[in-house]
Amino acid sequence: MRIYVLSRRKLAFVLLFLITAGGLLTIAQRSLTTPSLVRAPGTYYMAHTQEKVVALTFDDGPDPIDTPAVLDILKEKQARATFFVLGQAAQSNPYLLKRLILEGHEIGNHSFKHDYQQRHLVDEMNQTDQAVFAATGTHTYFYRPPGGFASKSQVDTIRNNGHIVALWSVDSKDWRNPGVKQIVDNVIKNVFPGAIILMHDGGYQRTQTVKALGPIIVALRDQGYRLVTLSELKTLDSEIK
Ligand SMILES: [Zn+2]
Repeated sequence: MRIYVLSRRKLAFVLLFLITAGGLLTIAQRSLTTPSLVRAPGTYYMAHTQEKVVALTFDDGPDPIDTPAVLDILKEKQARATFFVLGQAAQSNPYLLKRLILEGHEIGNHSFKHDYQQRHLVDEMNQTDQAVFAATGTHTYFYRPPGGFASKSQVDTIRNNGHIVALWSVDSKDWRNPGVKQIVDNVIKNVFPGAIILMHDGGYQRTQTVKALGPIIVALRDQGYRLVTLSELKTLDSEIK
């Protein structure tokens, strides 16, 4: 009987251990793969507006294959978007930055190398801004931290360096490659007036994103939405005016 009780306790302990370890593992895996969105004070992730406007944003480009594919669709649909570029990709593909500006899109700053810890935050921001300026003659204004994470002190540093931290309010979750229909649903089912939508045009193969983009634009317009750049969206924010 005593042994039986002890075994049950041990069993309970083992079960508890497994559940806890499983939970911790899940959290650890998530923190490695999920962009963690921290809406620290001073960050911009939506516009307060009744108007049916949204901003499409694309991160991690420019990419020689996927960025032109995204741009072709935006051109065909006469839609404008904001691209958060990586400095090193920008340096390798300056012609794509020129095309972005020529076709009416906005360029944001997404660090130089996508270092999640942002150990050289200011240097990377400045290098990326310089790469954008060298290619287009325009400076970056919005900064999106890799993974969407910025501590309060990093937000302050970014602000002091002349940028606004821009996050998002609707995640297409295209970075998970969940299938074209799921990407479309993730946007269309969660969209609201003033939303900033997160998508990707680089960093990994973005075939699903490219296929989802046309249907997303069509569905948004069917619902009466107008697509604007982040700067335009900000001018429509009733709480900022
Ligand atoms: Zn990114």
